[in-house]
Amino acid sequence: MKEKYYIGIDLGGTSIKLGIVDKNGDIVAKYEAPTPHAKYEETIELFVKMIEQTGIEKDQMLGVGIGVPGFVNIEDGSIDELVNVGWKNVHLKNDLEKKVGLPVFVDNDANLAALGEMWKGAGNGLTDLVCITIGTGVGAGVIINEKIYHGKNAMAGEVGHITINPHSEIRCNCGKNGCLETEVSATAMVNFNQRAIEGGKETLLPIEATTKDIFEAAQKGDSLAIEIIDNTANYLGLALSQIATVLAPERIVIGGGVSKAGELLLRPTMQYFKRYSTEKIAEQTEIVLAELENDAGIVGASRLVADQMAK
Ligand SMILES: [Zn+2]
Repeated sequence: MKEKYYIGIDLGGTSIKLGIVDKNGDIVAKYEAPTPHAKYEETIELFVKMIEQTGIEKDQMLGVGIGVPGFVNIEDGSIDELVNVGWKNVHLKNDLEKKVGLPVFVDNDANLAALGEMWKGAGNGLTDLVCITIGTGVGAGVIINEKIYHGKNAMAGEVGHITINPHSEIRCNCGKNGCLETEVSATAMVNFNQRAIEGGKETLLPIEATTKDIFEAAQKGDSLAIEIIDNTANYLGLALSQIATVLAPERIVIGGGVSKAGELLLRPTMQYFKRYSTEKIAEQTEIVLAELENDAGIVGASRLVADQMAK
């Protein structure tokens, strides 16, 4: 009997990642292409081309899972708007199913990253976890009993827009002030540095410093870099404490570019997490770094296909 595979696609603002994933969740092959911006039909054609390029026969493919950077109407796999990709009112599931002749399932990228970490990464073997992705923005996926928890209108897990600092004057893209995203994202750290230097703060850091520069400067003892990391850890620890108090997940997984700082960020975050949590929650909640990195979306998208087809 021929081996069967899932096709997992991670659609990002800059690149499309496609993976062939076997029934155990292991990636067999990976492909990548730049995302054509604001060209929906062209992107669908590109998906088809990338799937053909794998050389796997149609009868060996079980289905296609796609993670997208935005909200998905879960009932029918349509999308109202993807700002990063430039799509508006598209029926991704229907359109791609017609082109490839396979079942297609669509969900939000942070949700699928969480599902991927649960299947093959830092949440392996667990049933309840929250996976928070910290990059230029902040997103999260909530897994309850091995399934994505969507909430009404699939709005669950939007932790980036928890108001974490009500006194902040920093405006978020969502229109509010003081969101978690404006305190702990890579963008937030870079902006913190810029404001501090413009305000006359002494530092080794250049005004255009990246998060990598900030983490390196902190290791050299730069006081501004240490302050930025402390601010990030404080608000992240506070948000994670609130999330853990409501959901009591077995584990919280931290992924995304900012998580590359590793222990330098994790250690102070856990200290703040403990400070803000009850003893019981602090004791029972593990906080760990993501393991799959850029592959989480592909693996999660494949698991989505497996789950949907088992229904
Ligand atoms: Zn916001």
